[in-house]
Amino acid sequence: MVVKDKEFVKFISSEEITARIQDLATRVNSDYKDKKPLFVAILNGSFMFAADLMKEINIPCEISFVKVASYEEMESSGNVKQLIGLNENIFNKDVIIIEDIIDTGRTIAKILEEFRSLGASSTEVITLLQKPKTNVSGEKLKYIGFDIPEKFVVGYGLDYDGLGRNLKDIYQLKE
Ligand code: 5GP
Repeated sequence: MVVKDKEFVKFISSEEITARIQDLATRVNSDYKDKKPLFVAILNGSFMFAADLMKEINIPCEISFVKVASYEEMESSGNVKQLIGLNENIFNKDVIIIEDIIDTGRTIAKILEEFRSLGASSTEVITLLQKPKTNVSGEKLKYIGFDIPEKFVVGYGLDYDGLGRNLKDIYQLKE
C-alpha cells in the first residue's frame, strides 16, 4: 500500500480494532457505571476511533471535540500547545480524553494539565495506540488499545501528510 510517496504494510486489521474497542468499552462502561463522564475527542486523528468507541458506550455521557494547535512562541523555547474549541464547563466533570496515538506523550501531558487546571474531578485517557518506548510523559494511561513499536503508522484516522485517514485498517511504514 502506497500513501503519498511511501510504502506501508498492513499492521492492525479493522477486525482487530473492532474487537479491541469492544474490550475497552466494556471496561469504561463498568468503571463509569455510576458516573456521567464527558468524553473529549482530540481531532483530527481520533475521529474514527471516537465514533466506533462511542457506539459501544452504554452509560449516560457527553461527548465533545477539540483540536490541539501547536506553535512556536518567540519568547519561550519549544513548542506551545493550545486547546481549541472547548466550550463545555469542565468543573467537577469526569473527563475521558480520546486520543489516536501517544508518541512522546508531550501532547497528552499538556492536555491533561489543562483539564486538571479547569477543575475536572477526574481525568483519564483512552488511546487507540501507544508507543511505550518513546512515551516519556510519566503519565499512567488507563485505557490503551495497542502498544506498538516506534515505527510510523497511518490509517483509521491517522494521516501521513494529510493522506490515509480514510483507511479502515492501520498500516506501518515499511523499512
Ligand atoms: P506526542 O506529543 O505524544 O509525541 O505526539 C502525539 C501526536 O503525534 C499524535 O496525536 C499524532 O498526531 C502524532 N503522531 C505520533 N506518532 C504518529 C504516527 O506513527 N503516525 C501518525 N500519523 N501520527 C503520529
